[in-house]
Amino acid sequence: MANIYTLQDPTKQYPTPKFKKQPQTVPGLAKKMTPRPDHGETSYIGNGRLPNRKALVTGGDSGIGRAAAIAFAREGADVAINYLPSEEPDAQEVIALIQKEGRKAIAIPGDIRSESFCKKMVAQAHKRLGGLDILALVAGRQHAVEKIADVTTNQLEETYEVNVFALFWICKAALPLMPKGGSIITTASIQATHPSPSLLDYAPTKAAILAFTRALARQVAGDGIRVNCVAPGPVWTPLQISGGQPQKKIPEFGSETPMRRAGQPVEMSPLYVLLASQESSYVTGEVYGATGGLEIG
Ligand code: NAD
Ligand code: MG
Repeated sequence: MANIYTLQDPTKQYPTPKFKKQPQTVPGLAKKMTPRPDHGETSYIGNGRLPNRKALVTGGDSGIGRAAAIAFAREGADVAINYLPSEEPDAQEVIALIQKEGRKAIAIPGDIRSESFCKKMVAQAHKRLGGLDILALVAGRQHAVEKIADVTTNQLEETYEVNVFALFWICKAALPLMPKGGSIITTASIQATHPSPSLLDYAPTKAAILAFTRALARQVAGDGIRVNCVAPGPVWTPLQISGGQPQKKIPEFGSETPMRRAGQPVEMSPLYVLLASQESSYVTGEVYGATGGLEIG
């Protein structure tokens, strides 16, 4: 069976538009998507790149976070995942996949819009994993709205709380617990530099994540902690079909890229693994894109 190392045409490696319209309520479940996203369940092969590492992945139930969680476990790490309680069906699949690798799998459901929950989540992950040296911050909220007049203050607050405030709270709680060699990986987007008109609240949060990553990287470099960012292009995940895009755009999702297709979550995994691993010991404050050819710069 083909895996991520099989030589093939990348433009045809994964499903291409058209996709079926398939609305779900936020946050959505990967389980119910057609086609099912590829998070690496059968395609990701590990090579011992994260031996006995201890990772916390937010948004680890589905999409890009799930792909990172599976890859980390296949590379030899114990993994804790955070997600919203309504995502338990997706989360349980990830827990089972991590355990199948013989690694410790810790489920920490809860809402990261709460500072006190963020503190508890980090403390629990550290205690139950027996350490914490990889922090993959993938959770995010995206809700497309055509006109500024229709963006409610509630939506504005929620987008900033999930995408920016939580990042700050989680890093603040985790840094004192992380050993030298620890790695923090944030998740921005092509939207940070090429904002869509319908993502007036979301796009600036992704620009904030870029700036936060670069500033924190320089602040803690001397402490032996690296901080880097992954910036995906359009990726086939629950976030997009549950309101991240207007439903009318779902059939052509990803067709605007030079590769003319959407990315799959597993195509982000190698970047999270590289940035988590000691292999990238001289890399900090960087942004790695995976966009099907769209320019991040
Ligand atoms: P996803 O829906 O699979 O993942 C997002 C996750 O965020 C959810 O699974 C959920 O667990 C978590 N989350 C949302 N609100 C939360 C809250 N209040 N408390 C705790 N957890 C919460 O979708 P995805 O596309 O894999 O998204 C992951 C990240 O990738 C996000 O930061 C998103 O902005 C970013 N991103 C996605 C794309 C894309 O096209 N899919 C492109 C660029 C960047
Ligand atoms: Mg999810």
